[in-house]
Amino acid sequence: KMNTDLGQHILKNPGVASAIVAKAGLKQSDHVLEVGPGTGNLTVLILKEAKAVTAVEMDPRMAAELTKRVQGKPEEKRLKVLLGDVIKTELPYFDVCISNTPYQISSPLVFKLLSLPNPPRTCVLMFQREFAMRLFAKPGEKLYSRLSVNAQMWARISHVMKVGRNNFNPPPNVESNVVRLEPKFPRPQISYEEWDGLLRICFVRKNRTLRAAFLGTSAVLEMLEANWRLWCAQNDVVVDDTPLTGQEEEVESMEVDQVEEDEWNGFSDAEDELPDFFKEMTQKVKNGANRKKKGRVSEVVREKVRKVLEDETKLADKRARLCDEGDFLKMLYAFNQEGIHFS
Ligand code: SAM
Repeated sequence: KMNTDLGQHILKNPGVASAIVAKAGLKQSDHVLEVGPGTGNLTVLILKEAKAVTAVEMDPRMAAELTKRVQGKPEEKRLKVLLGDVIKTELPYFDVCISNTPYQISSPLVFKLLSLPNPPRTCVLMFQREFAMRLFAKPGEKLYSRLSVNAQMWARISHVMKVGRNNFNPPPNVESNVVRLEPKFPRPQISYEEWDGLLRICFVRKNRTLRAAFLGTSAVLEMLEANWRLWCAQNDVVVDDTPLTGQEEEVESMEVDQVEEDEWNGFSDAEDELPDFFKEMTQKVKNGANRKKKGRVSEVVREKVRKVLEDETKLADKRARLCDEGDFLKMLYAFNQEGIHFS
């Protein structure tokens, strides 16, 4: 029986299967990672063109079926089946990744592939159509999101083909697309965590101004403050903790105005809202920061953030959904210059 909770939709059209493998441009020396091999329709094709395949499959029945399919054949020795969740599995080095992906792990799988210390040469991956379109969406397009900016930072992304739902058994509810990701080489010299940390803040609501994203949310400022204090401690920078009297009220009222302005601009797009992230931030603040004399330091950090957005980058009034990679890079650089970090 198929387990559709595990996204088990077997590719039944052999033409589509061979097209996927052809688009990977395999070499005889390649080690391939296949995610979710199922009954092995792609696996047997890959084994014809590559040196070795590691297939990670979560369902033991599927893994058994695949193992049986190559049993006693010469391919047997070139296939290694790992039983488990690919997201939690430690992966060996591989040159190419091919997957008819179980759609519920699309996002973590992409991030896992792109953050590998030794990323593969190419990934050819099947996704549900909307997810695929988010991967290559450009600034200003409806589906432009944190996923788009992140994926495009680390990889060149191209569309390979559309695949209708009737090519699968059982047919899924959604249409699919095959996408190719080619991780950039050499890897851009920025920290994956910092880049993603910045984007998380910008894209909580992608239609609000960056001013509102950073200065309109005290949780964000508190996290940046905690990171900044840590950075100061690590770099022998002395923090002036003298409270500034009479300034706090002013700050609070500014904050309220900011939020109202933002709401007025109608941010209904909550696709990148990440409550867990905010929980983490709050925790981090509780654990890490000495906030006895908050007034003064908040003001210092607030001023740094204001300076970065308004003076250094002039991006304060821009909205994340319209920012391109250059804008985000400029911002990250300017924040880092001020000792403000995102991880
Ligand atoms: N590759 C096969 C094909 O194209 O016919 C099957 C693809 S099917 C869409 C997805 C496969 O991924 C299923 O076999 C499912 O059991 C497996 N799977 C689901 N979640 C997984 C996970 N977290 N890690 C590894 N495999 C997973």
